[in-house]
Amino acid sequence: MEVPCVRVERERGEETRQRLADDGLLAAEFEIEVEDGYLYLPVTDDEAVPEDMAIVSRAVGDRETPDTPADLLGFEPTYERLGDIVILDEDDPDTAREIADAVMVSDIPVETVVNRASKVKGELRVRDWEVLVGESTETVHREYGCEYLLDVAEVYFSPRLATERHRVAEQVDSGERAFDMFAGVGPFVVPFAKRDAEVVGVDLNERAVEYLHENARRNDVEERVTATQGDVRDVAGDYADWADRAVMNLPHSADEFLDAAVELAGDDCVLHYYDIQHEDDPFGPGEAAIRAAAEPEYEVEVETRHVVRSYAPHELNVCLDVRLSR
Ligand code: SAM
Repeated sequence: MEVPCVRVERERGEETRQRLADDGLLAAEFEIEVEDGYLYLPVTDDEAVPEDMAIVSRAVGDRETPDTPADLLGFEPTYERLGDIVILDEDDPDTAREIADAVMVSDIPVETVVNRASKVKGELRVRDWEVLVGESTETVHREYGCEYLLDVAEVYFSPRLATERHRVAEQVDSGERAFDMFAGVGPFVVPFAKRDAEVVGVDLNERAVEYLHENARRNDVEERVTATQGDVRDVAGDYADWADRAVMNLPHSADEFLDAAVELAGDDCVLHYYDIQHEDDPFGPGEAAIRAAAEPEYEVEVETRHVVRSYAPHELNVCLDVRLSR
């Protein structure tokens, strides 16, 4: 069957294979093929592939992979990978244990298996976990060429938002001033700084800010990153009129922070406002709240109404990219 493949000269094959593997983009169920001095590396998501790689569609053979968890279990389990941690979302403890055992004997490189034991909760948006295998809940996760050290038991992080974060990062210009109001361990801050922006990240969670410092250092962008622990409403005054861009990734309550966002905004500022709303009107409440906070001081122009993902039955996680012009 035809699948998207990265096409690369044979000499750069191993380096490219490693980069794709690190980002979890290699499609292990298909063969890597060689033809006329080029390698064809099948990928799981052609949109997530770094821009410097060429994508072609190509018929490749199936790979013999007897050791996937699905082969061992006889059904397709649902799990996410975060560095060397496998994350399950199973209500039934026996099924969770069965999947964990299969994951451990499969060919997935894994040190720890955890099961969700609560929803994300409280101001810090951290969950409880049941650790089924292993001990450490700290790992190094790679996405879009950046790496993040984090502990899932201490900070919020969702690998599912990688494509969305990349969509926003691609809008960042060299030299601009960007402010992440709810920065976590830095998955917006670090790629923004990699694009040569000057970036401030704030988070209430002390551990997240420690990881943010570490992740700026790991990705060689610490010179362009300021990481501050605190309530962003208290920090915003120090950056009044400062930002060309502000990220508000605190769906459910971002509207409570719009006054702080307007305080931060410079003469021309793009807001990335995340929200969770009913599918009947996913963008209306956010747009109304932004207009109420910013007008008439700013002209408000909605540049993008973007559905990030389905959040729950009839509920959508959305992002409004909104330009504020004074
Ligand atoms: N942007 C990060 C990401 O994409 O992984 C983290 C997003 S997480 C949904 C929201 C973050 O906001 C949490 O790390 C939480 O600690 C932080 N937070 C909640 N209330 C805050 C406040 N008043 N000021 C600053 N940060 C806050």
